[in-house]
Amino acid sequence: DQVSTFAQYARNQGKVGRVPAGIPKKRSRIVVTGGAGFVGSHLVDKLLDRGDDVIVIDNFFTGRKENLVHRFGNPRFELIRHDVVEPILLEVDQIYHLACPASPVHYKYNPVLDCDYKTNVMGTLNMLGLAKRIGARFLLTSTSEVYGDPLEHPQKETYWGNVNPIGERSCYDEGKRTAETLTMDYHRGAGVEVRIARIFNTYGPRMCLDDGRVVSNFVAQAIRKQPLTVYGDGKQTRSFQYVSDLVDGLVALMENEHVGPFNLGNPGEFTMLELAEVVKETIDASATIEYRPNTADDPHKRKPDISKAKELLNWEPKISLREGLPLMVSDFQNRILNEDEGKGL
Ligand code: NAD
Ligand code: UDP
Ligand code: UDP
Repeated sequence: DQVSTFAQYARNQGKVGRVPAGIPKKRSRIVVTGGAGFVGSHLVDKLLDRGDDVIVIDNFFTGRKENLVHRFGNPRFELIRHDVVEPILLEVDQIYHLACPASPVHYKYNPVLDCDYKTNVMGTLNMLGLAKRIGARFLLTSTSEVYGDPLEHPQKETYWGNVNPIGERSCYDEGKRTAETLTMDYHRGAGVEVRIARIFNTYGPRMCLDDGRVVSNFVAQAIRKQPLTVYGDGKQTRSFQYVSDLVDGLVALMENEHVGPFNLGNPGEFTMLELAEVVKETIDASATIEYRPNTADDPHKRKPDISKAKELLNWEPKISLREGLPLMVSDFQNRILNEDEGKGL
């Protein structure tokens, strides 16, 4: 039929996949769900800058128009207010599926109202149905949380994880695990071209100010001259990746022939106390630390093994935590200043 031949036609025209050297690449039409969010808006910038047409689908649950306002008026850019839990009809070559309420504050506060599981399952199903109908390539942004509180360290893609199915984080962890299952089912069962990225903790400008993630909390606290809140003993570890490295990895994955899953993260591993030190060095050496009880099921350590992405995607992160943190400070300072002015402070 006319629609499903579109993507085939596009592929034949060299719009999707690798284009031989010397032949100018044609524009792709690309959907980014969750494109008004932190990672999505940086991805949209990269795709528009390289000349593609981009449609963002976002319900502004945690995303903001401000993240994309610099693109308004660009004829290659479209923004649709839409909840991915509802079906949608579009004709495109590629779908980057990021939409998901990813903030622990939201999903732990009210997982039913905030629909984490529902978005991960029904949203992913709809985007896979769309990809199937139009023959588009589909990329899922999964998470390192699929490894749960890992018993293997560092984590390789072959590790199946250690996840509590009925805990406070389960709507997110299990939601993403189900999204991965659906993605592979549509690949094997319906021939959809899919890609799966397992993203490790990522930071940078445009992160939600108050979504409770550790980097945004510490940076905002240091700027507001509040104590840095360390949960538990602060010895748990995470590996922090700067957002431009992630976006490069997502595009490399989409454009390559490998399905994945691929870990996309920076292997530099830090305890939360070490992270607090880097934030102090970067923003305010006099900042103090305040200990708080840790949350349930908190993974003790997390660090990606990225050998697979290095070998098959020729990708690895370039920006260390000490180089990346300063790059988000002025964005946070400006937004906190605007917030304070809004409150009449
Ligand atoms: P974010 O909250 O900034 O972005 C998510 C976007 O999805 C927001 O713009 C939000 O409004 C939108 N959204 C949520 N539910 C929706 C729905 N039902 N319909 C339409 N839009 C909806 O988060 P982010 O950090 O940019 O995360 C992007 C993706 O990357 C998510 O899928 C997340 O799970 C994944 N991820 C992020 C990290 C990280 O450290 N940032 C780590 C692992 C995985
Ligand atoms: N879907 C969509 N846009 C499309 C095609 C499908 O939103 O262009 C949705 C559709 O409404 C369904 C889901 O994707 O809820 C799965 O579609 P599929 O065709 O695989 O399943 P079916 O509709 O047969 O249940
Ligand atoms: N954390 C912390 N202080 C904060 C927020 C989080 O010490 O203000 C800890 C949290 O307990 C966890 C780690 O930082 O051990 C990373 O938390 P985040 O929510 O950023 O990411 P995730 O747990 O999803 O990896």
